[in-house]
Amino acid sequence: MILTINCGSSTIKYQLFSSDVNQVVAKGMVARIGEDGSYFEQEANGRLVKETRPIPSHHAAFDICIHNLLHPDYGAIKAIEAIEAVGHRAVHGADLFIESTLIDADVIAKLEECVPLAPLHNPPNLIGMREAMLLLPTVPHVAVFDTAFNQTLEPKAYIYALPYSFYEEHKIRKYGFHGTSVRYVSQRAVKVLKRPLSALKMVVFHLGNGVTVTAVSGGKAVDTTIGFATFSGVMMGTRSGDIDPGLIFHMHRQLGLSPDEIEQIVYKKSGLLGVSGLSNDMREVEAAAQAGNVRCQLALDKFAFMAKKYCGAFAAVMGGLDCLVFTAGIGENSPTMRQMICDDLQFLGVELDAEKNEKAIRGKVEAVISCGETAVLVIPTNEEKMIALDTKEIAGL
Ligand code: AMP
Repeated sequence: MILTINCGSSTIKYQLFSSDVNQVVAKGMVARIGEDGSYFEQEANGRLVKETRPIPSHHAAFDICIHNLLHPDYGAIKAIEAIEAVGHRAVHGADLFIESTLIDADVIAKLEECVPLAPLHNPPNLIGMREAMLLLPTVPHVAVFDTAFNQTLEPKAYIYALPYSFYEEHKIRKYGFHGTSVRYVSQRAVKVLKRPLSALKMVVFHLGNGVTVTAVSGGKAVDTTIGFATFSGVMMGTRSGDIDPGLIFHMHRQLGLSPDEIEQIVYKKSGLLGVSGLSNDMREVEAAAQAGNVRCQLALDKFAFMAKKYCGAFAAVMGGLDCLVFTAGIGENSPTMRQMICDDLQFLGVELDAEKNEKAIRGKVEAVISCGETAVLVIPTNEEKMIALDTKEIAGL
């Protein structure tokens, strides 16, 4: 079996897959590590357990994961040897990793090098790798990078038009995120459409709390909306998306806000929440707009407008468009937002089948929802499965 681990600063999420990666045998998480109210939960064999108890460290949290997987009543495996390989989500691999890789001391050292680029995410990822390797020292561990898929961007797409030394000396360039999700759904889209990957020009809309739109041509990322930090591109739940960078100087110099305050504003108080004044949750914003809330309607209009603009831009850089893919919480569940984004894209061959669009919700099923020349697909994302599939391949299972 293959264990996948997503280790954050206060949360560890894990899934145990059957060896063929067709089935999730157990899934669980340990949350609020080192904080008040820490707890764990696990679902396996149809049993859900949840318990609140002090969990002071990641070390203690990993012990709990393994203990739960092995538990005689509610566990999933009888012996730890059942775990044949471990796949780790790794957030930032910079330009050092263009694909998933077997973890060894050299890989760990390179990931340490990437810490300044992802100071919040890479350190807990590294803790997760070290702890899991202590607990499972004899099996292969594989790192799957969120940034790897976007490493196919050409220099003209990833370079910022700053003095070149910022790129050379400080690695400042576009990296993009959500690559594991985009890779998974674009591979699934090829299967659904039964068309050769090399011939497909796709725009993938990963619309969740975080939002990424990516141009994928012949299976390779050509451009993507998130750049160096994680707030550019389309507006998100609480992140602004593209703003004039000059605003940051204005907010600092004229409005007297500190860099920390501005960071809080663009990351935590903007996006759907900022424009609507109500919520970062698309469901609530849609419901309020439906009931006549003007600011919520504006938040929806702005969201769709920004996403649509990137669709046109990416069709232009790819020199055509064969397929749109919607995924993640909003992409999979909001017929309203899908319709708003696709409206007026007939000139790109995009036309939705209204009934199929309405039906494609919460089913966690893949669906074609278009009736025009350009295929429009809803594909539920599954980053854990992508991690498990890579792990299986790289571990040679
Ligand atoms: P994710 O980050 O992929 O979990 O996506 C979270 C986002 O999906 C939130 O903005 C949710 O409001 C949104 N979402 C989930 N279900 C629905 C739904 N039925 N309709 C509209 N938005 C939804």
